[in-house]
Amino acid sequence: MKKIGVLALQGDFELHIKMLETMGAPACEVRTPADLRTVGGLIIPGGETTTMDRLLRFSGLDKAVSRRFRNGTLPVYGTCMGMILTAREIEEYPELFCFGFIDMKVARNAYGRQVDSFEADVKMKLGNGANGKPFNAVFIRAPQVVELGAGVEVYARHNSLPILMSQGNCLAGSFHPELTDDSRVHKFFIDNFVEA
Ligand code: GLN
Repeated sequence: MKKIGVLALQGDFELHIKMLETMGAPACEVRTPADLRTVGGLIIPGGETTTMDRLLRFSGLDKAVSRRFRNGTLPVYGTCMGMILTAREIEEYPELFCFGFIDMKVARNAYGRQVDSFEADVKMKLGNGANGKPFNAVFIRAPQVVELGAGVEVYARHNSLPILMSQGNCLAGSFHPELTDDSRVHKFFIDNFVEA
């Protein structure tokens, strides 16, 4: 089984590592382009986009992740800030780095401030019998999709807005499954993107 890297420059990477270990998936922290070479998939956790902008450029991981994604050897799953980074455009922040893996424009902190964080039970269409019971989605200063390209597949919505989507080798979601003990989205990533 391929090792899954979790981008560990900043943010809540530890909980993703814990989730992967609980699932029995080999996992490691990624801080440098050398770390990145050892993994078969990458999770980009929640965090702070403005801080990440500097750290990605400084570490050289901006180019290293882009290169491997574009040559088809690095499936990516971004949560919250990670989802923002997968977009092609960040509303009101054109200066911030984003990878452009998914044809969408996102708005940061679109649900309000930290105090406006919330949880919601959402239905997901993940296939492979993973539908079942609703998913407890945790939103923390979460982004919203404000434009979505026709080529993007949507697996879950909240109040009609897409909250889990993919394009090509990239999965992205605005909520934090690593804060729950429900590993269905991580499993979906591993089964359908990393091991595909
Ligand atoms: N508000 C953060 C940002 O825009 C993202 C929030 C998160 O990842 N929990 O950078």
